[in-house]
Amino acid sequence: MNGLPEMLAVVIVRDGALPGGADEVAAECGGAVLVVGTGTPEAARAFTAAQRIWTAEVPVIAPAALAAALTPLLNAVDVVVLPASPDGRDIAARLAFQSERPLFAGALRCTAQDADLSRLDDSLEVHVEFDEPVVVTLIPGVRGTPHPVPSPFEPVEPVELTVTLPDVLDAEVVKVLEPEPETVELTEAKRILGGGAGLVRPGEDGSAVMRTLTEVAAALGASAGATRVITDAGWAGHDRQIGTTGVVVDPDLYVAFGISGATQHTGGLGRPAHVVSVNTDPSCPMTAMADLGIVADAREVLHELARRLNGAADA
Ligand SMILES: Cc1cc2nc3c(=O)[nH]c(=O)nc-3n(C[C@H](O)[C@H](O)[C@H](O)COP(=O)(O)OP(=O)(O)OC[C@H]3O[C@@H](n4cnc5c(N)ncnc54)[C@H](O)[C@@H]3O)c2cc1C
Repeated sequence: MNGLPEMLAVVIVRDGALPGGADEVAAECGGAVLVVGTGTPEAARAFTAAQRIWTAEVPVIAPAALAAALTPLLNAVDVVVLPASPDGRDIAARLAFQSERPLFAGALRCTAQDADLSRLDDSLEVHVEFDEPVVVTLIPGVRGTPHPVPSPFEPVEPVELTVTLPDVLDAEVVKVLEPEPETVELTEAKRILGGGAGLVRPGEDGSAVMRTLTEVAAALGASAGATRVITDAGWAGHDRQIGTTGVVVDPDLYVAFGISGATQHTGGLGRPAHVVSVNTDPSCPMTAMADLGIVADAREVLHELARRLNGAADA
């Protein structure tokens, strides 16, 4: 595999589906991606930020075998970047071990020379400079969804990668469980219900109404997100915060309950096809950008939804 750049994104795909963060690692590596897994031609076409794609179709995702097979191919690459998706995290650690490189996990950004890493539940940012070849995982949803490249390239240099199932102990897939919408990482969610300050009465603990939001979201096959007002108050985890200092999402549907639509929040919304805003203020920015604005008490609308969807309601 000649002509590889010094910085390369490695994306593991299953059945042609890109994991969360695939386009972000592609963009971080200047558009150079090695796509490995099952259904790689289809996955390669799904990138919007890749400019140069190598594909390596394998019959099965066997992590130990895959890491062993990729290690010699990636010898010439100084910085190997994987999305911190489940497969990315798994293969990254094995690649680092096999190739005797340090692993810098949980990066917020990365270049060929350095990276910023998130530590201690995002309360600490650590800067590292590279003085040897490394493996890095990039946290999905932080860098944001890159803008589409108008004409995605066809794979220009398909790679024949032979994975010989080794006599080493390998992980075996027993069953693939679909993620629960309420716990799925926000970056992967196609429908999101977002909760903001307008859901919580002054002086009240907002945890209960956020639980109701999560239950209603689950009943609708959606995930629950929140604004920083909600996460700062501790009524939802920081991993649920959408925005410039939270996660960047890209749902098809976003329903905002009592959210004003500050730019720091909407900057993390991606390009949802449909936006609904429930707000008492018909002229707030969130309602202005919505396809459907419901001028009403957000909490009452949420409770009515909960009642109709079978009784999920806080006290
Ligand atoms: C550096 C920096 C980074 C930031 N990063 C983020 C970020 O990542 N994500 C983020 O979300 N924010 C972020 N913020 C905060 C952001 O600027 C806003 O303050 C925040 O998004 C507002 O949250 P909110 O819409 O829940 O609350 P508010 O702005 O207080 O809006 C509440 C809304 O609820 C409506 N409302 C009130 N009562 C009701 C009711 N009964 N029913 C219906 N609607 C009602 C109001 O009309 C209003 O529109 C950041 C700020 C800074 C300075």
